[in-house]
Amino acid sequence: MPSKKAQILEHIWNYPGDYRKGIASVMGFNPNMVSDTVRELVSEGWVAEGQPETGRTGRAPIPLYFDREKHLVLSVSYEQRGIKFALVNAAGEIIRQTDSSGAPDDPEDLVEAILQAKDSLTEGISGRLIGIGVSDPGMVECDSGQIVRSSLFPDWHNVPLGRLLEERTFLTVIVETSSRTRAFGQYRMMPKLMQTGASMLYLDYGEGIGFALVTSDGIWRGLGFAGEIGHVVIERDGPLCGCGARGCLEVLSNTLALETKAAELLAQGINSIIQCRSNPPAEEIFQAALDGDRMARGLVDEIASHLGLAVAFLVAAFHPKYFVVGAESAATITCLCRRATAAVHDRTLPEIASSIEILEGREFQSLALSGAAMMVFQKIITTEETVNVCEKAE
Ligand SMILES: [Zn+2]
Repeated sequence: MPSKKAQILEHIWNYPGDYRKGIASVMGFNPNMVSDTVRELVSEGWVAEGQPETGRTGRAPIPLYFDREKHLVLSVSYEQRGIKFALVNAAGEIIRQTDSSGAPDDPEDLVEAILQAKDSLTEGISGRLIGIGVSDPGMVECDSGQIVRSSLFPDWHNVPLGRLLEERTFLTVIVETSSRTRAFGQYRMMPKLMQTGASMLYLDYGEGIGFALVTSDGIWRGLGFAGEIGHVVIERDGPLCGCGARGCLEVLSNTLALETKAAELLAQGINSIIQCRSNPPAEEIFQAALDGDRMARGLVDEIASHLGLAVAFLVAAFHPKYFVVGAESAATITCLCRRATAAVHDRTLPEIASSIEILEGREFQSLALSGAAMMVFQKIITTEETVNVCEKAE
């Protein structure tokens, strides 16, 4: 059970702008104790006071916010186009960012690249770096910070990246899959979900396909690999997947599958509004489907058939309040959100279908960076010792 101090800090993180009095009454704490604790949190740089409302009679209460400048996290996200590094605050806002196009040769190289980015990004900042969050598109054992299988570095197995970084930096480190960091970022950025503690099932769609269940307790990890549904075999004789199996959900329905099929049809001279005929990007295919292009719609229907079945099973299994679709582009999100809505209504019981809200999520861009950082903040905030250790280290 976190200390009252940690609970108050977490409350202010979740409900920006709340007042001392409001906190005391909602949390059932003594108002004097809340006042003392908030004073302590302000002096330690965790909490900032906003401007009291003007035009009120009597003394207006002061709104409280999680300080956005004094504590920062370094986020690392490796994606197909290279590695992104960013300094992120507790609201998930990116303060500074740098990219590296070269891929590291081995895990030590990656650690060095992260340390270098840490030094260059933190130069001259007034805030203090309190942790590192790493987002990896492969399979990760979050508890031990181990990359079990990296999809970007196929030869890397069981790399203890979390431990390597902790040993070099003495900071709190989280290593998580991209599906989960994006899901967590998405959840934190939707106050109506986060503040009600509603459950959310998130579809992470791109070259990889993953699902993540988020509740008020955070990500549901199961024994470690919950959500790794992309490598469930759908067609025994299907195309070969990067994981070594044939006919996985991912290899049948990811962006690459769509692009390959579209390129084949376009090479045969099939009529379509798609401009880039030799190498059509998934984003353009989804946009063409939205614009009514027959070929694109057919292809999207094809990949969405497997995906829709998976969505229906998961929605029926978990019956979350929200189902949110995340992908690289707005067109992809809109397209898949429509297909998911249809799948849930066609394939699940009306009691389930009518009570779940299916929403379009944010485009990926920096979502993994924001989410990974906010996971670090959550870990630090909910661990009383960590909040105190951070202060003593000063
Ligand atoms: Zn696979």
